[in-house]
Amino acid sequence: MNPISSGKIILSPLIVLSFLTPAFPPLEQTTSKWEDIPEVAVLLEVYGDFIQETTTKDNDVAFLINKTWVYFRNGRMLTEEGFRFQNRYQSIFYDYPLGKLIKPPKYQQMPVRSSDFLDLVFGTKETLLREQCDWVPFLDHKAYMNHFCEEALRKVETEIFYAAKSNVEVEDFVENLKIIYSFQQKKVRGSENASHHSYGLALDLVPESYDGKHANWKWSTAFIKEWHLIPLEKRWTPPQAVIDAFEKNGFVWGGKWSHFDTIHFEYAPEILRLSRIKNN
Ligand SMILES: [Zn+2]
Repeated sequence: MNPISSGKIILSPLIVLSFLTPAFPPLEQTTSKWEDIPEVAVLLEVYGDFIQETTTKDNDVAFLINKTWVYFRNGRMLTEEGFRFQNRYQSIFYDYPLGKLIKPPKYQQMPVRSSDFLDLVFGTKETLLREQCDWVPFLDHKAYMNHFCEEALRKVETEIFYAAKSNVEVEDFVENLKIIYSFQQKKVRGSENASHHSYGLALDLVPESYDGKHANWKWSTAFIKEWHLIPLEKRWTPPQAVIDAFEKNGFVWGGKWSHFDTIHFEYAPEILRLSRIKNN
């Protein structure tokens, strides 16, 4: 029997309304809102060519990439298999400070991020990944990089060479560059995260000398227990003009991470775009 028409129970209009409102907002409403999520907007902007479809599924935003759905899950970007362990993961997005670093980044636990998204976009097989990479000339060396970031890296090089004409510090940096490590099938040091190196999206610019300074938190743990407190002047750092050239073209610098890695740059335009949106 319909309780509203029975006449025996008097219901307030609010309760009646709650009977009529579905548990989840209607599909159309959610769909029209996904562009309002800044993280989703930057993902579509940066990786749009790899995403075949974006829709609302199970009250979440879902992206179809290579026949597999990957779900937004508050930035965690997980396939259905990843749901079981979703509490282990943090968002693939993080706060990245723009401009010159003025103090060491605040200590944070090493985040665990799912590699589901990048695995789907670029694949995981080494042969397949190598097909997407090429040797790119960079500062009188070569880096084996994914086509996805090749043009951006060439622009970085042009800007660094230009800066070197009038900036001795940049000139010395280029001259003292010893070797570049780029594509490697390896995990991020000290974590189970897949590194951007695995996709040909990262490069380490190794200098002839670190001048006795710290370049990587992991190397420093051997000498200093409170490595996260190492002041910036004791950390090996590329010239600011070099960092600026990378950031301008979509590369994040590892020196701004809590677990610092000052020779490391990786192509993650979504992180920089999100930072610019949030700081505007
Ligand atoms: Zn690296």
